[in-house]
Parts: sequence; structure tokens; C-alpha cells
Amino acid sequence: PRNEDYIKARIRTVPDWPQPGVQFRDITPLLQDPKTFRVLVDTFVHRYMDQKLDVVAGVDARGFILGAVVAYELNLGFVPIRKKGKLPFATVAEEYELEYGSATVEIHCDACHAGDRVLLIDDLVATGGTMIAAAKLLTRIGATVVEAAAIVDLPELGGSKLVIEQGIPLYTICDFA
Ligand code: IMP
Repeated sequence: PRNEDYIKARIRTVPDWPQPGVQFRDITPLLQDPKTFRVLVDTFVHRYMDQKLDVVAGVDARGFILGAVVAYELNLGFVPIRKKGKLPFATVAEEYELEYGSATVEIHCDACHAGDRVLLIDDLVATGGTMIAAAKLLTRIGATVVEAAAIVDLPELGGSKLVIEQGIPLYTICDFA
């Protein structure tokens, strides 16, 4: 099968989690299986190996799992974008809207050098709020987001369209309609 189908087949759908009506796409089976984990990491590594990147940034928390391994394989450093209050040094913060309430992500102000070409990784794009806020943080500290990447897009929520409309190139491996 194509890499895309191989990867998608290992994502588990958990109905009514974390709340009734939500179909949660669970990537843990994909990480747990050594072959699919390798195909997954290699898919990103092959896409970005000739992009002259300087750093990989991953979003708390599943973006850390993926981003760190991809960074290591590309011989690059890794930068965490964390939920509010977790980073010890001076930070830059972006607040964004959730369905109910808001969330804040932060990055260390010295996490990138001006002009750094960054790959931004998370596991999934839903409303796009997290990816857009993370990209804004990178831009604010002077980096260039070469591409935002995730395993899964949920196109019906419209997030991937919003990300692209913000001028952030987006790559996702598979989608669930
Ligand atoms: P967004 O900000 O609405 O695009 O939501 C994306 C963020 O929420 C990502 O950091 C995901 O890890 C998380 N997320 C939302 N829905 C799911 C899901 O169905 N599976 C896994 N993560 C999800």
C-alpha cells in the first residue's frame, strides 16, 4: 500500500472522547508499531531532507514525539512550543480561541536565530488554531516557517484552509472526512 494508506490504517478512532460527539483520532497505535513509526518518520524526513532547514519546532505534546525524531534524523536541533507556563526562560506567547475558552502557547525568545528556516510539526490539524498560533510565535522570534506539517488533517473543521490562508504552507499525510 501507499505510505499514506499504511499510516492511516494504524490511526485509531475513539468515539465520544474527550467529550460526547467527538471522534478522537488516536495516533498511539501508529507510534507503537515499529514499522509504521519508521514509515511515518521517513515520510517526513524524505520530504524535508533537501529543504535546507535550520531547525524543527514541535507543538506540545504529540508534536514533541514526532518533531524530535525528525529533527534528529535531519541532523537538526529541536525547539519545543509549549503550553503556557512550562518554559523556564524568557518567552513569547500567543493566545488563541478554542471552541470553549482559549489556550496559550509559548516559545523561548532565543529558540531560533533571525532568518532560521523552520519546519513546524504537530500530530493533527483540527480548527487550525494551534498550528497558526505556533507559526506566529516562530515568525515573532524572527524565524521563517518553511512548512507546517502534521500526520492528520480534519478538513471538515476548516483548519487546514485557514492555515494556508494565513500564508503558511501546510503538509498533512492523510485526512479523515
Ligand atoms: P486545533 O488547534 O483545533 O487545530 O487542534 C489541534 C490540536 O489539538 C493538536 O495539537 C492536536 O494534538 C489536538 N487534537 C485535536 N483533535 C485531535 C484528535 O482527534 N486527535 C489527536 N489530537 C487532536
